[in-house]
Amino acid sequence: MNVLRSDATIPCPVCGADGDSAELVIQTAAHMFPDTGERFSFTRCSQCGLTYLNPAVPPEHLGQYYPDYYLPYRGPGAWGRYEGIAARGQGITDRRRVRRVRRALSRAITGGRNTAAGRVLDVGCGHPTFLRQLVDRVPGVHATGIDFVDSGWRDTPERWHGLSLIQTDPVDFVTDHQYDLITMWHYLEHDYHPVDTLRRMREIAHEDTRLLVEVPDLNGLSRRLFGAAWEGWHAPRHTAVYSGSTLAATLERAGWQVVKRTTRGTLDTYALWWMSRMEQIGIDWTASMEQRFLPFMAGRIVTAPLFLLEGIVPLGVQLVEARPHTR
Ligand SMILES: [Zn+2]
Repeated sequence: MNVLRSDATIPCPVCGADGDSAELVIQTAAHMFPDTGERFSFTRCSQCGLTYLNPAVPPEHLGQYYPDYYLPYRGPGAWGRYEGIAARGQGITDRRRVRRVRRALSRAITGGRNTAAGRVLDVGCGHPTFLRQLVDRVPGVHATGIDFVDSGWRDTPERWHGLSLIQTDPVDFVTDHQYDLITMWHYLEHDYHPVDTLRRMREIAHEDTRLLVEVPDLNGLSRRLFGAAWEGWHAPRHTAVYSGSTLAATLERAGWQVVKRTTRGTLDTYALWWMSRMEQIGIDWTASMEQRFLPFMAGRIVTAPLFLLEGIVPLGVQLVEARPHTR
């Protein structure tokens, strides 16, 4: 048992409604973590309908759920001799992100008429491989990444030459600039104060700025299939799991309006399904993934027809583009 965690409910992180009146959606064990018997509850807010972790783990105690063996921290090296192939997977995700960003930048700067470079801010940049690709592929772009911790870039400064990387809470981010494009790739679902963060982003935006937010989709097929094992919960690291409508309402509250939404994101949704399946069968997340690589690839081939439907059938992620509210 984790004695540090309070069992009292917490208010909704978006609208502030009382947490006692929220309805239980699901209880889960910690994901990508040994099962210690600890359970986490996601509840639906009685006022705004947001599904959120209730109670959440206080941020200062969250570090225990990010051990050294945490799979995303191990990177492609977790796959042993298949490391090279695994590394190409991240490269594919980053290139998809760069393509989305190019189009959205064009809309922010030239009304979609021309390709354009501009000022891009990535919130929760972690290991900033996406910004690296962006700067290498879009000449003249100014790229800034912010994160709560600098562990994603601190030890390899030579890899990140030309990027501006700043350790800060997004709410406290100080800048003299207005950004043309702001990206949040699987950041918002971790945020304890999403409306405050989005309001701060509105303050550093101009009237044509575009905001790209990618998060898991509560109403995707993978959540319905995998239930408590669905990796989109990622308990207790995800503070909220958004549907299309609660994501739009959260953005609205902070001064943004959704202009596009798609369930074809940049994340590898097959990998999300695979991780959910591994939760279901209870694998040892501390072990090497090398022996799982060939079954992983075989599963990808067998299920390929389903994943071709991504964007038509909601599989598990959503990507929205928002712009500041017109007054
Ligand atoms: Zn609420």
